[in-house]
Amino acid sequence: MKIERNLSNLSQPFDLIIVGGGITGVSVAREAAVRGIRTLCVEKDDFACATSAATSKLLHGGLRYLENFEFSLVRESLAERRILGLAAGHLSRPMAFLVPIYEWSNPGRLMLQAGLTTYDLLAYDRNLGAPEDKVAPGSKWLSREEFLKREPRIDANQLKGGFIYYDYQSLYPERLAFAFVKTAEAAGATMLNHCQVTGFGFKNGTRQLETVHFTDSVTGKKHSAKGTVIVNASGPWMDLVLGLVEKESSHKVQRSKGIHLITERLIGDSTLFVRNKEGHHCLMIPWQGMTLIGPTDTPYEGHPDDLRPTEDDVQGLIDLVNQFLPGNPLTHDKIKHVPIGIRPLVFSGKSTYRASRKYEIYDHGAESGLEGLISVVGGKWTTSRKLGEDVIHHVLPALHKLDPSAASRIKDVRTDEHPLAGFPAFGASATELWEQIALMNHRVPDNVLNHLFTLYGTEYTDVLELAKKDASLLKRLSDEPGQFDIMAQVVFAIQNESAKTLGDVLNRRLAIGSAGYPGDAVTKKVADVCARLLKWNPLKKADEIKRFKAAFPLELIGPKKSKTRK
Ligand SMILES: Cc1cc2nc3c(=O)[nH]c(=O)nc-3n(C[C@H](O)[C@H](O)[C@H](O)COP(=O)(O)OP(=O)(O)OC[C@H]3O[C@@H](n4cnc5c(N)ncnc54)[C@H](O)[C@@H]3O)c2cc1C
Repeated sequence: MKIERNLSNLSQPFDLIIVGGGITGVSVAREAAVRGIRTLCVEKDDFACATSAATSKLLHGGLRYLENFEFSLVRESLAERRILGLAAGHLSRPMAFLVPIYEWSNPGRLMLQAGLTTYDLLAYDRNLGAPEDKVAPGSKWLSREEFLKREPRIDANQLKGGFIYYDYQSLYPERLAFAFVKTAEAAGATMLNHCQVTGFGFKNGTRQLETVHFTDSVTGKKHSAKGTVIVNASGPWMDLVLGLVEKESSHKVQRSKGIHLITERLIGDSTLFVRNKEGHHCLMIPWQGMTLIGPTDTPYEGHPDDLRPTEDDVQGLIDLVNQFLPGNPLTHDKIKHVPIGIRPLVFSGKSTYRASRKYEIYDHGAESGLEGLISVVGGKWTTSRKLGEDVIHHVLPALHKLDPSAASRIKDVRTDEHPLAGFPAFGASATELWEQIALMNHRVPDNVLNHLFTLYGTEYTDVLELAKKDASLLKRLSDEPGQFDIMAQVVFAIQNESAKTLGDVLNRRLAIGSAGYPGDAVTKKVADVCARLLKWNPLKKADEIKRFKAAFPLELIGPKKSKTRK
């Protein structure tokens, strides 16, 4: 299917306008559109370009949250892990987690055993309707020998053994978010990226919000749209967007900075979940032949637009990793990328590490008389579908109150057994689908074909269709090991997936940029295609290349930075 930025239908009134196109906003859009709610979603940059792209790439229950006794959050997350896994089977997989237990570990074996038994119990229906490739086994204890066999690189000094348990890995969160965008648009939503909301307007003489003003950064043009209900789903920007309508925003976001390192491969096929003597934890996650390390969790007081990782953020993770992998120390020259994002947490006053990952929904009509405005904050990627559903349960009464005629077009739909765009049926087996695809004579190497299936699901044929007309589009962008993106995807991103910048194409529609700066040659090659298709003049092309490169924190990567801190 084709996703287009359609700015021609803005004169019609919408039932719902959503501000923000992270996973929260696009999930609300999907929930609304499938119910027949006339929906517009407006994103200032690109879909899932902020926090939603900076995650640990996990669909998980959150074992750690049991320490805070957050049983209902963990239960909800485990249920949603299953639902997302079955809704887009090509974009996730079960993954083993190894938790080493040392003589000095706190929590020790008994405590963790209790936690994992609870985790397994809360995930009682985890394999319900799951095909074989989504089955997540229960947890178990591994002896020291068994543990070291699975992960021989780990520090064996004082190691007693450890636990193995399972969660899901989200292979490409940016693509999974885009599957929500496509599903919403297929159901009738208007999804606009690169449109920044700059203000709101009230219905004549009332405190009812009615108009959303925004600027299209592609054309520079200003637009307005009318909506009966407005949902503020701008994540880390939630209070700043509220500031456009309230003198002092009534709800604050607690912002927590989180970085990861993407490094050359340091570990085996399972995630290592380590916690040091000071109680700092980190995950070392296998991802696309590399290792994803993190996340950090520190309070962030700056403006969300100014976020940048620091040398201290990076060094902290390097030091933590090196306590557990002493044989092959991590140094800056092994780092390929430093993704960063802000957790938009419900304000609690607690440390960001201890703060809950639950979400809250505020109905400003009921709270302060700002009729038609709903804000949402907090949550996890994993619970985004449920969050979207709960937001709709707040939208519907407001919509019925402010526009009783809306009732006639709204359907009662549930999405907990619905597939997302690109996946043929809820609970289908991605492995079986792949086996059928591999038997077809596509004249494309298996590794490339498999990559396309993972990214696009059944829509991989639309990408290959382009290459049928122009065989040069089958060329890979890069010969680096593990990089299988082809030129046809660049054209597809622009023509079919509303990509407008180099970052949209390379970081979020294709896979290559999510692993770090792809290099000058690849960047230029892709910029040439963008310039031709998006009609960029040489000045605009040079500016795009400059901006794309500057977004990567290359100053933190490289041999000269290596040092070990005590
Ligand atoms: C380091 C880290 C690791 C994480 N790991 C995981 C994990 O493994 N699993 C998990 O389940 N969760 C994880 N999370 C949590 C998860 O990523 C977030 O809960 C989720 O991405 C929040 O999505 P969001 O849509 O609310 O925010 P965002 O993704 O930040 O989206 C908000 C959007 O609003 C837009 N916006 C802002 N102002 C405006 C405006 N004026 N006009 C229009 N648009 C605007 C922004 O451009 C942005 O795209 C992690 C978070 C972090 C930081």
